[in-house]
Amino acid sequence: MSIEFVQGDITQQETEAIANAANSRLAGGGGVDGAIHRAGGPDMMKELKQKYQGCPTGSAVITGGGRLKAKYVIHAVGPVYSGKPKDRELLTSAYRKCLELCTEHKIGSIAFPSISTGVYGYPVEEAAPIAVKTVSDYLKTHSEIRLARFVLFDDKTFSTYRRAYGELEVNV
Ligand code: ADP
Repeated sequence: MSIEFVQGDITQQETEAIANAANSRLAGGGGVDGAIHRAGGPDMMKELKQKYQGCPTGSAVITGGGRLKAKYVIHAVGPVYSGKPKDRELLTSAYRKCLELCTEHKIGSIAFPSISTGVYGYPVEEAAPIAVKTVSDYLKTHSEIRLARFVLFDDKTFSTYRRAYGELEVNV
């Protein structure tokens, strides 16, 4: 299995799928969601509207990638940070559901943004270890997914995820 960390723009990734940090209305928005819809084109929103009536927090839905290099986009809904224990549960299940959809659709590679740590306010120091552990645990038992890549937009987020992965390796 392979987990990678790169600093960059998720819309440019050539993994089979990319994950989106969507909202529960699947209505499109700013941040990474806006960037993915702009780059993917209008078919993605059409497909979302046709197939789904929103998506609960902690879950995810799948569409085609439109004009993106990635064949699929997995629209995950992370929690708005509240500081309560439920945040961790919902963030874990958002990442997990993305990976389960990969297994179901025979997708061998996926790129993730840092879900919930932008407008949704999840402190990246808290979110990174949860994201990295959830993905790492899943990959250990699902060899069909050969690559998970975290694509982090800014320096601080990138270094925080790399550190979280380093600490995870020390602790296993
Ligand atoms: P949320 O609402 O889940 O917090 P945001 O889109 O506000 O989602 O932010 C999530 C993370 O995605 C932030 O770290 C933000 O800097 C980052 N981000 C924004 N645009 C991109 C992009 N094009 N590629 C990768 N990450 C991005």
